[in-house]
Amino acid sequence: MIPANFDFHCHSSVSDGLLPPAEVARRAAGNGVDLWALTDHDDLGGLDIAQATAREAGIRFVPGVEISIEWREMPIHIVGLGFDWHHPALVDGLTELRSGRLERARRMGEALDAIGIPGVFAGAMGYVTNPNLISRAHFARYLVSIGIARDTSGVFQHYLTPGKPGYVDHRWASLADAIGWITAAGGVAVVAHPGRYKMSGGDMRKFLDEFKDLGGQAIEVTSGSHSPDHVLHFARLARHYAFHASRGSDFHGPEESYVDLGRLPPLPQDLKPVWRLLDLS
Ligand code: AMP
Ligand code: MN
Ligand code: MN
Ligand code: MN
Repeated sequence: MIPANFDFHCHSSVSDGLLPPAEVARRAAGNGVDLWALTDHDDLGGLDIAQATAREAGIRFVPGVEISIEWREMPIHIVGLGFDWHHPALVDGLTELRSGRLERARRMGEALDAIGIPGVFAGAMGYVTNPNLISRAHFARYLVSIGIARDTSGVFQHYLTPGKPGYVDHRWASLADAIGWITAAGGVAVVAHPGRYKMSGGDMRKFLDEFKDLGGQAIEVTSGSHSPDHVLHFARLARHYAFHASRGSDFHGPEESYVDLGRLPPLPQDLKPVWRLLDLS
């Protein structure tokens, strides 16, 4: 059966989303999504309940994850889809990857303290729902709550992005690691929201060359993070590289996300949808 509305990128409270995985599953179904993946950052802990709830709600489910990597010192996200979520290479790789987040968060707290905003580490921890997965989004929520900016985008813009006082460098996984873990576990590697990376056109092509050489097969073309121009641009790149195309809202929560689950345009018609690479039985 051909899906009418697939959404392969969103978050639950297992990472930095606001709703528990079961609620995300029910919301996806309620919004008319008929093929759905949960893609929490660096953590597989929501997949069992997401799968069970998707089944109850009558929608098809694909296991997913969004892996934090660095490429030439740039932070990039790689989505994995349709893997065995008990595979040791993937499970162990992600456990190791998560382990650096707490120390990074402490350093972010110190950096903000140094510019006269004290107590932010403890404050951000108050927003964390999975102790192994503290993200900049939790810092942003706390900083909004104390009136540092009106919304989380304002916090990111002024405090939490490279060059801003609360940003600290961090060693994430490599591109080869992320693609290796995903493919070892039988999954498909997808470049998440390529329009968000501040890369030159030349660097983007080098990145996509490497991604393809390492076994990457798809890129997000329609994304909650993409403008209509991004969609046209990355559709062209998908054709050029013969990549399959993915579509995902990157939903984090009702009040926070601009795009709700499943509420985004369809993929350009000539592209090969990434679900064709998955075993949907
Ligand atoms: P981290 O994995 O800790 O580096 O945090 C990355 C997360 O922060 C992303 O997945 C988003 O949830 C959030 N984020 C990053 N940039 C922005 C932004 N400009 N505005 C709002 N949220 C953002
Ligand atoms: Mn996030
Ligand atoms: Mn991302
Ligand atoms: Mn995401």
